[in-house]
Amino acid sequence: MSQKTRALSRRQFLKGISVAGAASLLPLRLLMPYSAEAATAFREQDFQIFRNACPRNCYDTCSIKTFVKDGVVQFIEGAQESTFTQGGLCVKGYAYPRRVYSPDRIKYPMVQDGRRTGNWRRVSWDEAMDRIAGKILEIKEKDGSLLGLGLTKYSGNFGITNYGVEGMMSSLGYTTRFVGTPCWPAGIDAQNYDLGDMWCNDPEDMVKSRYVIIWGANPAWCSVHSMKYVNEAKRRGAKVVVIDPVFTQTAAKGDVYWQPEASSDGALALGMARHVLDLGLVDSDFVNNHAKGFAEFAAYLRENVTVEWAAGVSGIPADQIREVAEEFASADPATIWIGYGMQRHTNGGASVRAIDALVAMTGNVGKEGGGARYGHLRTWGFNYHALLQKQPEGAKGFIGATGPKGEFDFTKGEAASFTDRTVNINKTAQAILDTKDPALKMLWVSCKNPFAQDFDRPKLEKAFDTLEMVVSVEQFFTETVNNSDIVLPVTTLFEEWTVNASYWHYWVGINEQAIKPMYETKSNIEIAALLSKKMNQLAPGSCTFPQDIDTREWLEKEFNQGIYDYLGIKHWTDLKNGPVKARLASSASWSDKKFGTPSGQYEFHSELCQQNGHDALPRYKEGRKPYDEFRLLTPHTKFGLHSQFINLDWMHEFNKEPFLYMHPDDAQEKKIADLDMVRVFNKVGELKIKVKLTSNVAKKSLVIYEAWFGQGNDFNVQNLVDDESADMGAYKTGAPGVAIHGQFANVERV
Ligand code: SF4
Repeated sequence: MSQKTRALSRRQFLKGISVAGAASLLPLRLLMPYSAEAATAFREQDFQIFRNACPRNCYDTCSIKTFVKDGVVQFIEGAQESTFTQGGLCVKGYAYPRRVYSPDRIKYPMVQDGRRTGNWRRVSWDEAMDRIAGKILEIKEKDGSLLGLGLTKYSGNFGITNYGVEGMMSSLGYTTRFVGTPCWPAGIDAQNYDLGDMWCNDPEDMVKSRYVIIWGANPAWCSVHSMKYVNEAKRRGAKVVVIDPVFTQTAAKGDVYWQPEASSDGALALGMARHVLDLGLVDSDFVNNHAKGFAEFAAYLRENVTVEWAAGVSGIPADQIREVAEEFASADPATIWIGYGMQRHTNGGASVRAIDALVAMTGNVGKEGGGARYGHLRTWGFNYHALLQKQPEGAKGFIGATGPKGEFDFTKGEAASFTDRTVNINKTAQAILDTKDPALKMLWVSCKNPFAQDFDRPKLEKAFDTLEMVVSVEQFFTETVNNSDIVLPVTTLFEEWTVNASYWHYWVGINEQAIKPMYETKSNIEIAALLSKKMNQLAPGSCTFPQDIDTREWLEKEFNQGIYDYLGIKHWTDLKNGPVKARLASSASWSDKKFGTPSGQYEFHSELCQQNGHDALPRYKEGRKPYDEFRLLTPHTKFGLHSQFINLDWMHEFNKEPFLYMHPDDAQEKKIADLDMVRVFNKVGELKIKVKLTSNVAKKSLVIYEAWFGQGNDFNVQNLVDDESADMGAYKTGAPGVAIHGQFANVERV
C-alpha cells in the first residue's frame, strides 16, 4: 500500500499540472490525494534515499531526493534542505521517473544502416567501439592529426564529471571543438566589460528588493523556484515590472507590464537613464568613487538620448518610462533581472550594458536586494580532473598559442605548440561546411541535440551529409540521432555519480548513483574509458584516457580544499546529507566594490570593450533590420528544456502539438482563423503548424515555442532560424552569441 499511495500516477500528475504554476512547485506529497491512510502508509525507512541534482542547464539546478525500492526509482521530490529548491520540482522534474523508465530509451549501442533510414540494429559495445576507434585511427593516418574529428557538446548534462567528454577528446589528440554557447554569451561579455565578471546576487535576496524589474526573462516557466522570491518581495511591498515582447505567465504576476519592440531594450534602458539623470537621482558616491567614465556616459545621454526618442524606438509611452525610471531610482534597493532572451539579438550585448549602467548609476550594484542579475560561476571551482586529460605523445594539431575557450572552461588554455581547432558552436552547419585542411570527417555529439538547438536546420542536414561518421551519445531517438551512424546509450542522472552547481543560486548538490544503469547504458566517462581501451588495443599509446573508471572515484577527484571551504564542508560525502549553500560574505555580488575590470572600478567607459571592437560606452546599437513581414520569436517552452522531456508520455498528455501564436488583428488581415493550419516561411525555410490567436503576442509578431520531437511530428522551429551572430560573446566564451530572436518570417493559411 505504501508504494502505491506514494508513487505518482499519470492521473495524479495531470491533476497537479492542471492547477498550473502553483502545482509545479509543490512537493510531490502535496500532489497526492490526501487521506489519513496515505499519510500513515508512507514510511521513509521503507525506501533507500539518494541525493540527485537536475543537470539540465536550468536556472534552478534542483536538489532532488530520490526514493528507491527494490532497485527501482519509486518517486522523487525536491530536497527540503535547499532553501532554493524547498521541497519542490517543476513539471519536468516530476516527470524524471518517466524518463528513466521510458520504453523509448535507447537501450543498447546501435548502428544505422543509412542515415535517416531508421534501419537501426543492435551491436555490442565492442563492435561499436571497434567501428569508432577504427575511424579515428583512419582519420589520424590520413590527415596526420585528429583535427578531422569534431566534438559538439553542451548543456544536456552539466554534471562536472561529464567534462570527461572533452577530456576524452584531449586524450586522443588535438581535435576540432565547437566552442561558445547559444545561451548567454553576449550578456556574459557585457557584464565582464562593465563589472569585470558575471556575478549576480543570491536570488534568495530578491525578497529584500523594493523594486524588481524582470527584463526578458520568464521565471514562471523557466525558473519556477525563483518566483517565490519575486512574490515575497511583492508581498513586502515591492513593485514588480515585467518587460517582455510576449505577455508571459511572469508578466501576469507583475504590477506593470511593458511589451516593447523586440531588440529595443537598450533604447528603453537609456531613456530611463536619461530621466534619472535629469531628476538628479544618480548615486553620486557610486559614480564618483567606484566607477570610471560616468561623466562621459552622462554627456552621451544628454546629447543623444531623450525619453521621447526611447518611447519612439520601444513603443512604450514616454510618461510610463519616466514613471518607472523615477520609481526605480528612488527605491532602495532596486534590482533588474536580466534574462537571456533580451541579449539574443544583434545588439544584445549593447543592451545588457545599457541596463547594467542604469542599475549602476542608481547605486544598486553591490547592494543586497539590488544588482543587475544575470548569472554567476562562483560555485564552479572544481578541479576539472575529468576535463584535463593530456594528449598522447607526438599529437599534432592546430598551430597556435591558446586552447579552446568556453564559459565553463577554467583551464585558461595553456600556451602550447599545438592546440585544438575551435569553431563557432552557433554556426555548426557553416563550420562543418567550411572546415578545410583537414575537413571535418567525423563528429562526436554528446549532451546536445544539434538538430533541436542549432540553427538553420536545412543547412545542418546538408552539413551532416558531408560527414563520414556521426556518433551520438543519447537517451532517446532524437533528430540528431536520426542523422547519425552510431548511437551509444548514456545513463540518466539516477544511474551515475557526479556533482552539480548552479549558475544562478549558490547551492551545490551531489548526484548519487541511485539505481544500476538500465539496459547497457554507460556514463560519459565510462564510454571514454571504453574507447580508450579499444584505441589502445588497436594502436597502443593512441589514447591517454584511463581505461578503467570508477565514477565515484572520479567524483572524488573533482573536489579541492577551496570548494570545501567555500561550502563549509569537510568532504564531498557530507553532501550525501543534502545540498549545501556557499558561505557568502554578503548576498550581494560586488559588495566590497572591488570590481574585476582593468581599473578595478565599475566601467561605464570600457577600453577593453572598445579594443574588442565595440563602443567604449553603453551607447545605443540598433537591432537587426527586418527582412520579412513579422518578427519571429522562438522562446523556451514550459514543458521541456530544448527537446528534453517533450517526448515523455506525461508531457504529451497536455502538450500534444506545437502551435504558432499570433495576434487576432494580424490573423484577420491574413484571413487566418483560430486553429487553422498555416505555413510559416522565410529565407531559411518553412514549416506547417496550427495557429492559435492571442493578444498576449504583439501585433506583427509570431511566437513559436522552441523544440519538439518524438510524436511522429517533424516540426522543427530551426527551419526558420538562421545563424546570425549577436554582437558580443567571443571575448569570454570563444564565439559570439546568436541572434535567436532577431528573426523574421511570413505566414499564410494552407
Ligand atoms: S528542470 Fe529546472 S526546475 Fe525543473 S527539476 Fe530541473 S532544475 Fe528543477
